[in-house]
Amino acid sequence: MKTIIITGGAGFIGSHVVREFVKNNPDKKIINLDALTYAGNLENLKDIENEPNYVFEKADITKVDELRTVFERHNPEAVLHLAAESHVDRSITDPNAFINTNVNGTANLLNLCREFWTLNPDHQHGNFPDETRKNLFYHVSTDEVYGSLGETGFFLETTAYDPQSPYSASKAASDHLVRAYGNTYGMPFIVSNCSNNYGPNHFPEKLIPLCISNILNGKPLPIYGDGKYTRDWLFVIDHAKAIHQIFFEAKTGETYNIGGFNEWQNIDLVKELIKQMDEKLGNPAGHSEKLITYVKDRPGHDKRYAIDASKLNKELGWFPSVTFEQGLAKTIDWFLENNEWLENVTSGDYQKYYDQQYN
Ligand code: NAD
Repeated sequence: MKTIIITGGAGFIGSHVVREFVKNNPDKKIINLDALTYAGNLENLKDIENEPNYVFEKADITKVDELRTVFERHNPEAVLHLAAESHVDRSITDPNAFINTNVNGTANLLNLCREFWTLNPDHQHGNFPDETRKNLFYHVSTDEVYGSLGETGFFLETTAYDPQSPYSASKAASDHLVRAYGNTYGMPFIVSNCSNNYGPNHFPEKLIPLCISNILNGKPLPIYGDGKYTRDWLFVIDHAKAIHQIFFEAKTGETYNIGGFNEWQNIDLVKELIKQMDEKLGNPAGHSEKLITYVKDRPGHDKRYAIDASKLNKELGWFPSVTFEQGLAKTIDWFLENNEWLENVTSGDYQKYYDQQYN
């Protein structure tokens, strides 16, 4: 059985990616390597935890000894790397945590892959059935590395990097490291840069789940600045499917933009969310609009991100399977059906962070 390590598999996107790989690859062992920070939650994987090809390993990518133990135990043929500090606002208050995990942690993983795959003959693999995937390092990254757009234009895979927040700078640095290790040491790699995700298991510090949670609790819906910040949104399961397809079918050494072909200004998105929530909760139309509260802008806030995912569409035929309205309806239904999940993650440390940010 061949082994793939997926880092950050207990997080929001990672859990959907792990599920996609476990379900579609019974012949491969899928190792979920995660430190279980505030954002990691094994509840996200309850439905697959007993699958015979799934293994969880608690390890911190900033700790080389912990990583080495997992590599020695499993001798992976490929690494799919999602573990990261992922919230822009937290990167503004504590940039070092982002540099440690996103930059140093990625470097630690790359160094171990290099050691296991090229430097130490004891670790090297025999015949890998699919030679093109042998020793692949796939890095899951963000469109935020490209910086901010004006009112027109799209990010292409060739757009120059121009990160503006400590989060996006740390992701840009890790993308550069992955490509540098590929070019310098001949390690097969793929990078994909995706727009904003939303869907089940989304941690309620991010806009959509925060608003769902606050509408349910009659709390203010915080909107930065004038509400005109524009983002492209993709349903998380479509992202997971894109990653799975790219992992097995794309050319190595390539970069792919992944997006929803779906731009929204924050204020319009929140109004669409209110419309759907009020309908589902049996409230009169527009009932929750009174909760909209404009708050002090985030420093260095990027005005607009828009992604051109046509390379992925042309080369692999990938396209989002749901519209935004459909994806949002599925997301709201999931949160309404999983109130306990929401209550568990909004207690404790997250509540302290929330009070600091918004009170
Ligand atoms: P998340 O914050 O929900 O999950 C991150 C996971 O990584 C958690 O399970 C956490 O426990 C784990 N982790 C954090 N630090 C770790 C460490 N030092 N060692 C091991 N594990 C650690 O993040 P997400 O939103 O699921 O994002 C996953 C990846 O996708 C990130 O690399 C992020 O940059 C990228 N991405 C996210 C989005 C988005 O909209 N959320 C969009 C594009 C790209």
